Amino acid sequence: MPESAKSLFVVGLRNSHAMEIQARELMERQSERTDDYPEVKARLTMHLAETKEQLVRLEQIFESCGESTSTLKDTAQSIMGNMMAMAHSVAGDEILKNTFANNAFENFEIAAYRSLLAMCGAAGVESARPLLEKSLEEEEKMAAWVAENVESVTRQYMAKEGIVAAGV
Ligand code: MG
Ligand code: FE
Repeated sequence: MPESAKSLFVVGLRNSHAMEIQARELMERQSERTDDYPEVKARLTMHLAETKEQLVRLEQIFESCGESTSTLKDTAQSIMGNMMAMAHSVAGDEILKNTFANNAFENFEIAAYRSLLAMCGAAGVESARPLLEKSLEEEEKMAAWVAENVESVTRQYMAKEGIVAAGV
């Protein structure tokens, strides 16, 4: 019974921690390079702070499961995050590609937290629920913000590039 559910939960925690390290790296790189889009920069900076809290929450839950946080990898995934941000920075439409990537990433995170929440009961770690729900709420708000701002970011990008509508 709870033994296997708990080990599955711990694997999920480990993967989510790696995911949040990647999120942190992505947002650090992006927020450094988004001066032309102050609203995006402000939201990224806010979510970067939330992401650091999410990492602490995952570490707390990890420890409450009797696991040592020293076994969590801190860099492996971050290389990928850096590569994504760098690849996008080469192209002129970096802001658009980053917006699409963030839209995908935040929804990935939502699924990861929902999955952890679905395991809480069976894993015998109900105490983790409020922490995971808090992080899930932050991801949902960030995902909604990114999705709601696709059009406005696109219009800002076009204006900055001096792109005019066809026929004007
Ligand atoms: Mg996150
Ligand atoms: Fe997030």
